[in-house]
Order: sequence, then structure tokens, then C-alpha cells
Amino acid sequence: MPASVIGVLALQGDVVEHVAALERAGARTLEVRTPGDLERVEALVIPGGESTTVIRLLDRFGLTEPVKARVRAGMPLWGTCMGLIVAAADVAGLLQPTLGLLDVTVRRNAFGRQVDSAEVPLAIPALGPAPFPAIFIRAPWIERAGPEVAVLAERDGRIVMVRQGNLLGTSFHPELTGDDRVHAYFLAIVEAGRAVSAA
Ligand code: GLN
Repeated sequence: MPASVIGVLALQGDVVEHVAALERAGARTLEVRTPGDLERVEALVIPGGESTTVIRLLDRFGLTEPVKARVRAGMPLWGTCMGLIVAAADVAGLLQPTLGLLDVTVRRNAFGRQVDSAEVPLAIPALGPAPFPAIFIRAPWIERAGPEVAVLAERDGRIVMVRQGNLLGTSFHPELTGDDRVHAYFLAIVEAGRAVSAA
């Protein structure tokens, strides 16, 4: 497997924006649509989009079990917005299937209609002192975070960014800003994992 290729799940959603941001942050990328594509990547980003659609497409493309197996074997995964929902343990108030990888319960479309879409300066201490321009689009929030989950950011007291080992989740869309610090942060997680497995 060639090192340092970051996959972007490309079944539906804002794929090209993630590819561009990852490449600006210094990564090589591959759009992932098949189990064969997945074998060629070192980490996977699930973009924003529509979670019910993507869960169905993951099954149809034979990717559900391979993605779960890779993540359980240590592959870093980052979900933004829809991707966070897809990676979550469960969805509050809905019997929506998920991959059950990140030990959080999310609530879909949680920030309410009036503020469906907003750009909010978000304090994310892990990224340094400058606030991050976080774009929320019909975003979920995290209602429950398990004991292994570190909270990296909150908006109005609601959890919107978490990390659980090699897994990262953001309610917002870093790929839609020119600020690539979350992409660089994810690449650092990938890099650190590689150093451990090479040791
Ligand atoms: N509301 C969408 C969902 O529940 C997520 C929105 C997004 O990814 N921008 O799937």
C-alpha cells in the first residue's frame, strides 16, 4: 500500500472541496468508491452530504463492512457533518443505521431552522488561539460522547468537534473555508499513527 494517500469517500456529498483542502495541506488523495479503492488509502474522510443516502450507498457499493474492518484495525477516519452522522454510534430519536465507529450519539439538523446555515468563529484550542471559521449547514450536534471521546470544540454549549484516538468528527465543514487547519490536524493524526506502526 503506497503511504500517505488519503481517501475521500466519493459516493455523494462535497467531495471535491475535501480533496482540494487535503491537497493544499500537503496530502495525496484518492476518491473512494469501491473496496479496491479503500485498500489503497491510508485514511478516510467522509464528507458532508446526506447521511441516509450515503448509508444506503455504502451498502450498495459493498463498502460498509470493509470500512468498519479497516477502522477497527486502526485506519484514521474523519467525518464532517454527514460523515460524523455516518460514523456515529447512533442517532438521537431515529432508528437510522450508522457505522457505529465513533462512540457518540448525534442529533441531526440540530441547530434549528433559523440558523440552518451559519459561519461561526469557533474556539478550537487544539488548533491554536485563532478562532476557526466554522460553517454549519443543517448540522448535527453531539448529544452524548463516550468515555474515550475527547471534546475539541463546543458551540453554545453543544459539542461540535470530537476525537477518539484516530477518529475525528466535526459538525461543521472545514473543507468549505480557506482555513486548512483541521485538515492539517487530521494529517498529523495519520502521520502519528504511521510513526507508531513503523516503530
Ligand atoms: N443534514 C444532513 C444529514 O443529516 C447533514 C448535512 C451536511 O452534511 N451538511 O445527513
